[in-house]
Amino acid sequence: MKVLVIGSGGREHAIIWKLRQSPNVDQLFCVPGNAGICEEAECVFGDLKSVDSLVQVASRIQPDMTVVGPELPLSLGIVDEFQRRGLRVFGPTAAAARLESSKIFAKEFMQRHRIPTAHYAICTSEKEIKDALPHFSTPIVVKADGLAAGKGVVIAKTREEAGAVALQMIAGKLVGEAGNRVVFEEFLEGEEVSFLAICDGERAIPLVAAQDHKRIGDGDTGPNTGGMGAYSTNDLLDGNMREWLLAHVARPVMQAMKSEGAEYRGVLYCGLMMTARGPMVLEFNCRFGDPETQPILARLDSDLLGAFIASAEGRLSEGDLKWSNDASVCVVLASKGYPDTPELGKVIHGLKQADQIPGVKVFHAGTRHTGDEFVTNGGRVLGVTARAADLRSAVDRAYEAVGKISFDGMQYRRDIAKRGLRGK
Ligand code: AMP
Repeated sequence: MKVLVIGSGGREHAIIWKLRQSPNVDQLFCVPGNAGICEEAECVFGDLKSVDSLVQVASRIQPDMTVVGPELPLSLGIVDEFQRRGLRVFGPTAAAARLESSKIFAKEFMQRHRIPTAHYAICTSEKEIKDALPHFSTPIVVKADGLAAGKGVVIAKTREEAGAVALQMIAGKLVGEAGNRVVFEEFLEGEEVSFLAICDGERAIPLVAAQDHKRIGDGDTGPNTGGMGAYSTNDLLDGNMREWLLAHVARPVMQAMKSEGAEYRGVLYCGLMMTARGPMVLEFNCRFGDPETQPILARLDSDLLGAFIASAEGRLSEGDLKWSNDASVCVVLASKGYPDTPELGKVIHGLKQADQIPGVKVFHAGTRHTGDEFVTNGGRVLGVTARAADLRSAVDRAYEAVGKISFDGMQYRRDIAKRGLRGK
């Protein structure tokens, strides 16, 4: 089969690496890809911001299956357009992707269907902001309604700060149009867990859970990033909790989306806070997470293509995904200046040596080729991923591999999976 993957990050590299192991994949294409992906798939040019451009690529390649990585083309309706043209595609339609593309849609949806989430208020004007603030105790979470590439959430320490941030957002000063409407949310405390499921409109089949590390610095300090690392172990969610989440979150979402006329297919990513009041949904994403996908797929022992096709065709079954009991971890290597102003174009050394460590796979994110060399081409450059029988060994292997790699200004966290190692 000919398979096309859309995207250019570490998530897409991990998807491609796994798809290459499928006996049914004959040819793999990626639009636009990165330097690491181009070693494992044929990279073709295309614009992720334009459904037309991606349709043109697919018309040329005529893939048997297309897998969409990032949220932007999903929210722009790439799945709707591919379906109209009879092209098989993995992912939700634009209407279903509103669970991610509009925080307000997601909050109202959760309220309508009694899915556990933080208390909230929606504001579109200065008056609504002033009226809403006294109902919240501090800190207050302020969220832009639309897609904001990870920059749409601010945790304000005081009501004054929350009000000021919200005003800036609705004036379009912080995240452009995405902030025209804002959500105030009750601040929740607890452990964050990413719970993902592959869905086919009716059924939701869970993936193994992962924990992401959003802040740039060790000990969860400094600004938020796209993600500096993630790990996955069986300990993150026990069987009972997984069942609870399926029964109270994933399956109700499937049923409710269907009843509202927007059947949900593709990956449903539930960002959860495990609070003293029970698990609460912080956000939905309509696609795989990055970097969670890297350690999650590192633990998958069955065919990924089959699961994607079953999702697209509405015939998923429990046995479609088989997981290893091993642990896995991904350490992101980022450029100097990330997340604000990453320095690009630095030569990367040691990739081969790192990949030779048993159980290690280095996924590329922001990289490109110049001549024979790999150079940095983005804020997040590489995701050094390791799988081993236990978390300690996986972490040791990942950091051993990190030690082989260098580029000018390279920064990374030294404490990925530390919480998982506690008490071990
Ligand atoms: P979101 O994009 O909604 O997941 O928010 C990004 C990050 O902000 C989350 O991963 C949490 O760390 C934090 N966050 C979001 N909502 C809340 C909340 N209600 N309480 C505490 N932290 C939150």
